[in-house]
Amino acid sequence: MALNPLVDSRDVRFILFEMLDVEKLSKYAPYAEFDRDTYEATMDLAEQVAVEQLYPANKEGDKAGCVFKPDTKEVIVPEAYRPAIKAYYEGGFMGMADKPDHGGMGLPNAITWACYEYFMAANYPLVMYPGLSHGAMELIHEFGTEEQIHTYCEKIMSGEWGGTMCLTEPDAGSDVGALKTKAVKQADGSYLITGQKIFISSGENNLYSNNIHPVLARIEGDPKGTKGISIFIVPKYLVNKDGSNGEYNDVACAGIEHKMGIKGSATCTLSFGDNGKCKGFLLGQERQGMKIMFRMMNYARMGVALQGQGVASAAYMHAATYAKNRKQGAHVTQMLNPEAASVSISQHPDVKRMLLWMKSHVEGQRALCYFMFQNIDLSVVTQGDEAKEALGLVELLTPIAKAGCSDMATLIASEAMQVYGGYGYTSEYPVEQYMRDAKITAIYEGTNGIQSMDLTMRKILMNPEQFNLNAWRKRVDATLAKAKGVVEDKYIDLVKKGMEKLTEVIEMMKKQMGEGKFLHLFMNATPLQMAMYKLALAWIHLWMLTLTIPKMKELVGDKKGPERDALLKDNAEAAYFSGKVISGQFYIGAEFPKYFGMMDAILWGETAVIKATDEAFTGMLAE
Ligand SMILES: Cc1cc2nc3c(=O)[nH]c(=O)nc-3n(C[C@H](O)[C@H](O)[C@H](O)COP(=O)(O)OP(=O)(O)OC[C@H]3O[C@@H](n4cnc5c(N)ncnc54)[C@H](O)[C@@H]3O)c2cc1C
Repeated sequence: MALNPLVDSRDVRFILFEMLDVEKLSKYAPYAEFDRDTYEATMDLAEQVAVEQLYPANKEGDKAGCVFKPDTKEVIVPEAYRPAIKAYYEGGFMGMADKPDHGGMGLPNAITWACYEYFMAANYPLVMYPGLSHGAMELIHEFGTEEQIHTYCEKIMSGEWGGTMCLTEPDAGSDVGALKTKAVKQADGSYLITGQKIFISSGENNLYSNNIHPVLARIEGDPKGTKGISIFIVPKYLVNKDGSNGEYNDVACAGIEHKMGIKGSATCTLSFGDNGKCKGFLLGQERQGMKIMFRMMNYARMGVALQGQGVASAAYMHAATYAKNRKQGAHVTQMLNPEAASVSISQHPDVKRMLLWMKSHVEGQRALCYFMFQNIDLSVVTQGDEAKEALGLVELLTPIAKAGCSDMATLIASEAMQVYGGYGYTSEYPVEQYMRDAKITAIYEGTNGIQSMDLTMRKILMNPEQFNLNAWRKRVDATLAKAKGVVEDKYIDLVKKGMEKLTEVIEMMKKQMGEGKFLHLFMNATPLQMAMYKLALAWIHLWMLTLTIPKMKELVGDKKGPERDALLKDNAEAAYFSGKVISGQFYIGAEFPKYFGMMDAILWGETAVIKATDEAFTGMLAE
């Protein structure tokens, strides 16, 4: 286990091996050849590449940013990214969970994404280049013809070519169905593409010799809305028969955005077919574009959850290190003693509170995300009801994790800055960059408002017999039963009451749906999502407590006071488990009670949102 200043590696191991027992996946054929040693070796290498290569390039990437050359239409990415990206591809991290016959390692998603937490914490703007490339490659692998797979996949996997995801247009952001990019079928079976896409991450860059764009467009004459959308492979350079780059395909970068954060990630405006010569090749069937793109977007949403988690973890770890080293003010018990020595700020109750708040969120989110990733694996390797339930859990938890981890990323980075005091506000320390980088995670890959509607409507109310929710209820009930006799009743009871409150709210919403009160449902979608995130974390902390309390008792016994302190200083395992118990107790006992206020606000039924018209808001309409 490498020394990692960004992610608590011991916690990663606890969740993977002691809580989720990922090794048990080896009983299924696709993972039979793996064991703990293989997983440890992979994670050690990932951690090394993250800490030694990606992390140092993070600050430099932020300072240098991306540069657009208007004369050549090139985008120059931060030079510091180059060696780090090379190390990433050379380490084989491009296709960790992909099947070996797709050029991957075939590892479980749980292990793969744990490694990704290291990468995201180290430098997530950089990871967007190979990340989006991988997404594009996966789409082609799953929906492409043999020829398309042969033409594009290997070169994207090797890092010779890159890839993107082209949905957004000036008038089609959240409403993808409003897109105007047009496709016209040609005699040779290809399509002529014309249109403009904006905000395209990695849309143009000098890292790859060709860029392969999956582009959403409407074939001439096809219906309006999402039903009429198809998806095309549009390479920047057409590909010759021998696989080399051919003619330029009329895909031009018209500029890049100047952004608050993720400055090393190029966000581009792309013009397709300005000269009427942009060829696109249909991926899958006509008018199946949204269905196909959703396949990539579901994974991308999990990836964004992990971006938020990575930034939050890095911010917390920096704040904890800083707080233990910064001396300021006397201990509260000595506050009236002018001779008292200064203590580290980590000893002041308010700073401890901030650190515990960050720690308990970061650890809870980590376990929630890994649980979700493990269920992707289980949904594939198991059969029947077990597989269906695993998929149901993934469906339910994806919007909760995406919206929850991304909203919290900004708040946790902000709290980390608070721990640093004035120094945190300067660019000398990394937390101000984390705060700037974090915000976009709540906006892209479907804004958190869109995630909330997906959760409330598709994943819960419109899900047949609430299968997804019931699959989760089953898991929570099992945790409640296991916690009995191990965890103090007051924590168990609170989580139990939380589940009862959820049932009460869902029943009210079902009734509203039956009465056609859709405005009521939509106005409460985000409040419900935010509350469910809190409930999910309380459940996951309870689960962790059932494992950490016995372990802490074993390691610390009934030692108290200075004897206990001395043991914790000397024994890293005892320190880890006692810190973990405190984290769980803090979350359930001090943070989770806020959930009840949030749910009561929904039940209260205030309809101000429904009553408010544009006139309620100061602000002028454009002429
Ligand atoms: C740095 C960056 C990178 C990006 N990368 C990519 C990329 O690689 N590929 C790509 O295709 N796009 C990309 N995007 C675009 C991103 O996905 C969109 O910005 C996002 O989907 C929101 O669209 P919009 O900006 O048009 O906002 P709008 O759709 O105008 O939304 C504005 C606000 O209104 C809310 N809203 C909109 N419609 C509804 C509704 N029906 N109900 C309730 N609330 C609603 C939203 O939640 C949001 O709060 C990127 C954006 C940025 C800034």
